[in-house]
Amino acid sequence: MKISHLSAECSPFAKTGGLGDVVGALPKALARRDHDVDVWLPFHLEAAQWYRRRLQWPVEATPPFDVSVLGRPYRVGILKGQLPHGGVPVYFVAHDPFFHRPAGIYAPNDSGMDDGLWRFTLFVRAALEAMRRIGRRPQILHTHDWHPALATMLGAWSGWRDRWFDDVASVLTIHNIQYQGIYPPDQFPTLGLPDEVRAGGLLDFRGALGLLKGGLEAADIITTVSPTFAREIQTPEGGAGLDAILRGRSDRLTGILNGIDREVWNPAHDPHLSALYGASDLSGKAECRYELLRIAGFETADPGMVVGAIGRLVDQKGFDLLLEAAPELIRRGLRIIMLGSGEPALEGSMRLLEKHHHGHFRAFFGYDEVLSHRIEAGVDALVMPSRFEPCGLSQMYSLAYGTVPIVRKTGGLADSVVGFDGTNENVANGFHFEDPSPHALAAEILRAQHVFFQRGTWYRLMRNGMLVDNSWENAAGQYEAAYQRAREVRGLPW
Ligand code: ADP
Repeated sequence: MKISHLSAECSPFAKTGGLGDVVGALPKALARRDHDVDVWLPFHLEAAQWYRRRLQWPVEATPPFDVSVLGRPYRVGILKGQLPHGGVPVYFVAHDPFFHRPAGIYAPNDSGMDDGLWRFTLFVRAALEAMRRIGRRPQILHTHDWHPALATMLGAWSGWRDRWFDDVASVLTIHNIQYQGIYPPDQFPTLGLPDEVRAGGLLDFRGALGLLKGGLEAADIITTVSPTFAREIQTPEGGAGLDAILRGRSDRLTGILNGIDREVWNPAHDPHLSALYGASDLSGKAECRYELLRIAGFETADPGMVVGAIGRLVDQKGFDLLLEAAPELIRRGLRIIMLGSGEPALEGSMRLLEKHHHGHFRAFFGYDEVLSHRIEAGVDALVMPSRFEPCGLSQMYSLAYGTVPIVRKTGGLADSVVGFDGTNENVANGFHFEDPSPHALAAEILRAQHVFFQRGTWYRLMRNGMLVDNSWENAAGQYEAAYQRAREVRGLPW
């Protein structure tokens, strides 16, 4: 089957979170199952820098051409590279004024305006036109989150504006329901959709344009990144205003737990670690721990439990709960290492904790891929107190690295971590808590600390986690079934 992925992120070229990881890994797993897969991505400044660092450059896939948005021509280039390990083609849509943003891939334009609707309209239109020009017609167009959702809308409501795409079915994956692509209603003409779409209110979200909403109305099949999150987003508490639509389309909605890329996240051959290890010999993990404590400026001989936290510093992740609980946890002998960037208030609290608890609390700011690997390998436990979590990858990396996850029981965290209840040490691989409060989080971390000193039980939890098969193969099989359904509901042959 020919499958094209359209996304704003794809690791290693451009990534701010799990979306990039998934789009960097799922296509490779599908290709290993003999599908003909490619990925379409804006040529972000990050991607250009990735190539420059390697003294490489993607090749021109087709001569530059003009794409018309609101009657104005925009010149785009289409470059072709490939995903490392496996050779899946990646087509980059290049238009520097839109995609070369030094402040980040979602940064506003020079006047401070969020021009996302324009940028991603150009991306989608250019990608579809380029597919035609180079003769790559997919049977499945798989769009990720709101940014390329216009493609599914064009498919459902205007025949892709081109009969050449008649044989295409669409799948839309929700990676994070909080980012919906909301824009003022007067930007509707930019999308180039038929007027009936506006009249029918198909994009209307509380009086504004909702691109994710439109994509969900239009997609042949909708997936999200864990079975529990698929249930949660159909409730008013978890649906971020889209629950009614999702309930109405529940027969088209399915949750598929993400896998992890074992080529990138594997302690047996991770180039970022100071020592390698596996489930049968954990001595390398002790060395990674030593090295991390040294980098953090902690006492390396102290045998007490060290917990880590990695992620975007936003309300969703619940790191404020950890920061509030930190003084009490430190008083009880715990040490904490955090890596993240985001909300200034959270960064401020981290700086304060570091100042007052030198040697027990260490904060690293910014985005640091290498350090994230070192933390995953070096800490004893990783904390994810998320208020909501569609899937979550960091806890899956922890499992693979013999680091015990302590997570709030929500979304994909509930699906991927088996909580230790005191009796199930043959299957448990982590710790769960329910209430999103500093108190409940601290209580669970202290319970984990108690088990940490019962070394036999702790090793069982570590090993159980390392033996979980979280590879993409399993998820890729489920995506195959979703693709098959997408073609079926559109009345297309498999
Ligand atoms: P989300 O997609 O909501 O950000 P996930 O847990 O699904 O959360 O994915 C987060 C990914 O981003 C993981 O690979 C994690 O290691 C990485 N990550 C997040 N923040 C940082 C950071 N500051 N430095 C390095 N990696 C980070």
